[in-house]
Amino acid sequence: MADQTCENKSDFLEATTQYMDLAAKELGLDENYLKILKEPKRSLSVSVPIRMDNGRVEVFRGFRVQHSLSRGPAKGGIRFHPDVNIDEVVALAMLMTWKCAVVDIPYGGAKGGVICNPKELSAGELERLTRRYVSEISIIIGPEKDIPAPDVNTNPQIMAWVMDTFSMLNGFSVPSVVTGKPLEIGGSQGRNEATGRGVVHAIEEACSHLKIELASAKVAVQGFGNVGYTVAKILYDMGCRVVAVSDSKGGIYSEGGLDPAEVLAFKRKTGHVQDYPETTNISNEKLLTIDCDILVPAALENQITAQNAPSVKARLIAEGANGPITAGADRILGERAVMVIPDILANAGGVVVSYFEWVQGLQHFFWSEEEVNRQLRRRMTDSFRKVYAIKEKHGASMRVAAYMLALEKVATAHQLRGLYP
Ligand code: NAD
Repeated sequence: MADQTCENKSDFLEATTQYMDLAAKELGLDENYLKILKEPKRSLSVSVPIRMDNGRVEVFRGFRVQHSLSRGPAKGGIRFHPDVNIDEVVALAMLMTWKCAVVDIPYGGAKGGVICNPKELSAGELERLTRRYVSEISIIIGPEKDIPAPDVNTNPQIMAWVMDTFSMLNGFSVPSVVTGKPLEIGGSQGRNEATGRGVVHAIEEACSHLKIELASAKVAVQGFGNVGYTVAKILYDMGCRVVAVSDSKGGIYSEGGLDPAEVLAFKRKTGHVQDYPETTNISNEKLLTIDCDILVPAALENQITAQNAPSVKARLIAEGANGPITAGADRILGERAVMVIPDILANAGGVVVSYFEWVQGLQHFFWSEEEVNRQLRRRMTDSFRKVYAIKEKHGASMRVAAYMLALEKVATAHQLRGLYP
């Protein structure tokens, strides 16, 4: 496929299936399994009518896709964004299947989304939108069926509304229907920072192979939300020089390094990171090609493309976001020997601690933050090492190696369960 054809949203799905093809070929996987795994098991499209504050009714479109239920209930976040579309949701649901398999947790993959701009909604409108969306998808979610979680523009408060709405429909509290909840209603210690913390564990492992000294490494982070901020903060605390960060309005650069906590305080006051004192404003595009050792795209998909990949300076890229590198760019980075820790490994920490939250909820027995972080580190480190060993054995990229590990697990589950009827 020509690079240009893989640079837009619907081609995110095509890129995901391309990686499956590459991994299946390397594994010698029976093509009958591949046929099954390329199709989402279930896709629900719902209309979400809500009354706006001005008295008018607006109708939004929402989706919930379950890609696979072979290894357990489906698991995946809910995204509120104007660019949500069904192909994107299917691709993200597929990534969840592979992610859960890579880190060996007993879930299949799912994803949900509502086409909306939450920045233009009042708190009341956002709550009504969440509740109506949840009631529409309630026919397919549940603690043993499909467990949503936060994603772009959704947070613990929204997860609390998800839990409450599902509970109201059932007549009793069902905390395990959703993860990423506030601590007070059954959330897990460490869940908020889990994805970013997991990205850092993957970076630590990669740096030991690449002989990058973390304590003096230069880091650039695109996206300053849940994932991006946490990665920047933890790496800063470990001694890295965080030279650039950005949000949807643009980025900032400082050769001497930034303190992420102070930048966050500034963003809370102003609504953006740009114009932070004693830094240079840069574009998001520029941030990706800035001089650094480690680059962490932690915003949205399709950011590193065939056009800008040749100019990337980093030796290591950790995909905090899902699908931030197009297939064309991935090839170019591979040829340039830039190590890419793929999304299905790098950002799996969120679903790992979501799994811990679900387990704690089902057992009504809650762990300390130290215990959560210890178990998270173990899962991330073990998974990185397994993927790295496959990469070495097969001479594959980290991405194809991660897909190989995942595909083999899911295909084996299919084989053992057999094809119904
Ligand atoms: P978030 O909403 O907390 O933050 C997103 C950040 O990206 C914000 O700072 C926003 O301003 C910025 N952004 C949006 N568009 C941008 C653009 N075009 N350029 C630069 N920055 C832009 O979301 P999040 O939860 O941090 O998720 C970020 C990514 O990580 C997504 O791809 C998501 O799917 C992935 N992810 C999140 C989790 C999780 O637990 N939150 C888990 C796994 C993967």
